[in-house]
Amino acid sequence: MVESDINHIVGEVIKRLQNEKKDDEILVETSGRHVHLSQEHVEILFGKGYELTKIKELSQPRQYLCGEKVAVIGSKGTILNVSVLGPIREESQVELSITDAVSIGVKAPIRMSGDLDNSASAIIATSKDAVRLEKGVIVAKRHLHITPSDAIRYGVVNNEEVGIKTDGERGVIFNNVIVRVSEKFKTAVHLDYDEANTCGYSKGMRASIVK
Ligand SMILES: [Zn+2]
Repeated sequence: MVESDINHIVGEVIKRLQNEKKDDEILVETSGRHVHLSQEHVEILFGKGYELTKIKELSQPRQYLCGEKVAVIGSKGTILNVSVLGPIREESQVELSITDAVSIGVKAPIRMSGDLDNSASAIIATSKDAVRLEKGVIVAKRHLHITPSDAIRYGVVNNEEVGIKTDGERGVIFNNVIVRVSEKFKTAVHLDYDEANTCGYSKGMRASIVK
């Protein structure tokens, strides 16, 4: 075999290995600060019988961005124009980055969505009215949404914590990423904006699981 043939074959093999690696990596998505509201709070903040306006489906099934915006007020400051996500929840919840929480003087614990015992308090306001949440303000724990078939493929189980290694010039390994397995999910890692900035996030970024 002549050298040029060998080089060609080696090149092809490397290309194939790189593609295989790509296929095996998981999509990274970011979530900005947002609130989920109870029906009771929707009616206080927007009016009796008010229903939230869906404007965009989000990547995870049945979750959507609403047209409504609220202010989140802490002891040291206010964040305006915070997005409201639907559908309605049993309990209102505010998800901030650590940078957000510090900037308004809120000591928000790192939690999974819905785990609100002893979480932080804040005021949610609109031009119409305001509600004081005694609890419900959290910094979202970084997590991996994964379908049951992908969970088998990647060898992970529900509630397990794994590391996630991101690609790119500022690639990092995020530890303590909680695995959430459900048929309802689309497989993706969710990071907040602080984490996204840390790893130089750009749309379409991929990450691999590190055990
Ligand atoms: Zn998520």
